[in-house]
Amino acid sequence: MNICMVGTGYVGLVTGAGLADLGMNVICVDKDKAKIDALGRGVIPIYEPGLEELVSRNERKGRLRFTTDLKAGIESSVAIFIAVGTPPNPDGSPDLTFVRQVAEAVALHMNGYKVVVTKSTVPTGTGKMIDQILREKNGKYPFSVVSNPEFLREGSAVGDFLEPDRIVIGASDARAIEVMKEIYKPLFLRETPFVITDIASAELIKYASNGFLAVKISFINEVARLCELMEADVEAVATGMGLDPRIGPRFLLPGPGFGGSCFPKDTAAAAELAKQYGHHFELIEATIRVNAAIKARMIEKIRKAVGEIAGQTAAVFGLSFKPETDDIRESPALAVVADLLAAGATVRAFDPAAMENTRAVFPNLTYARDAYDCAAGADFVVLATEWNEFRALDLEKLGAALTSRTMVDLRNVYDPTEIRAAGWKYTSVGRP
Ligand code: NAD
Repeated sequence: MNICMVGTGYVGLVTGAGLADLGMNVICVDKDKAKIDALGRGVIPIYEPGLEELVSRNERKGRLRFTTDLKAGIESSVAIFIAVGTPPNPDGSPDLTFVRQVAEAVALHMNGYKVVVTKSTVPTGTGKMIDQILREKNGKYPFSVVSNPEFLREGSAVGDFLEPDRIVIGASDARAIEVMKEIYKPLFLRETPFVITDIASAELIKYASNGFLAVKISFINEVARLCELMEADVEAVATGMGLDPRIGPRFLLPGPGFGGSCFPKDTAAAAELAKQYGHHFELIEATIRVNAAIKARMIEKIRKAVGEIAGQTAAVFGLSFKPETDDIRESPALAVVADLLAAGATVRAFDPAAMENTRAVFPNLTYARDAYDCAAGADFVVLATEWNEFRALDLEKLGAALTSRTMVDLRNVYDPTEIRAAGWKYTSVGRP
């Protein structure tokens, strides 16, 4: 089956290449010519483990192509997946301009039956909006609208696509469901759970899932704060909680607050959208407030550890919002960098993948070659993102590079007893 994937960002590129791997002929379209040109030269525009191999394997087999020509993509495909950005408006609601543009292009160029599938995270009612655009601007051809939200996580996106927890399909007609089942047949045969439902429910599943995960993160962050006040250990508390299968151990890691391109945007959207339906989603609103407070508290933690920040040099390890990605959108690490600069510190920084993106936001930091180079001459370390290469640093070598052996570990990577025994002044989150 021929598929058109519109938008080749973190989601569209992985999903497009993944669908090609499932045997589909995929034409990936993006309006960003530089991105498409790079992909044409075999250059992957984002850092995502395993993606280069997935893309090149499927290009070689002739099942994956890249173009800026949306018309050609629409005309040659039965299913058109929309994977464009849905950034937040100032009030938190998602900006659907790009989604609307693609729907209008489909209406203009359709030449037969089309299934229009939203992969982007879109609010309930978007399926109806697309339906209306197709109805009004194309009177001629039949079509179906489907919601197929994406749950992949940056950093493990390829594995998440090929072995998903579930596939959610929201549709209002049997023909569309058959097309979607055909597309995902290899996953269906591997017994991936399928949730087939109406469009509005599918759209809401995505916001409800991300909202719930954000609540869980904020909950453990609040517990970590209590642990600091009560001299308890959040790791023990999280282990004790997580062994209850109703709670589960995942997402109980405290840190500097959630960030990334999804949780902040999707919680803000859920709160705003609920309001539009006359409901205050109080739990989500509280989660947004808690997260902002946790992010803001990190600079106080640093100040408590190092004293007056002005005039000191910080070595910040990790800039991306999580390990194994170059994505810095809403990264808590960058919030820490901004707070350090505002407090009068000089910042040296190192990240294995996200320095190029960070340079666009903070052109004046000193960007280092590795963690040791980053520490050279600095007064303290802030471990902001838990890349694997920060987990087993040579603490002697690191200490020798710094003016004082001081580390503020916002990701609880090191064992407090061991690192203190090695002569470090060490602060972490929610641990005595
Ligand atoms: P992104 O910004 O990385 O990519 C979006 C791409 O769409 C860009 O390359 C942009 O040039 C392209 N685009 C925009 N308008 C276009 C148009 N009219 N025609 C062609 N191309 C167009 O965004 P992303 O992180 O891939 O997210 C895309 C959507 O998926 C969002 O709604 C997001 O919430 C959702 N989502 C993201 C993730 C994630 O981890 N990043 C996970 C699940 C869902």
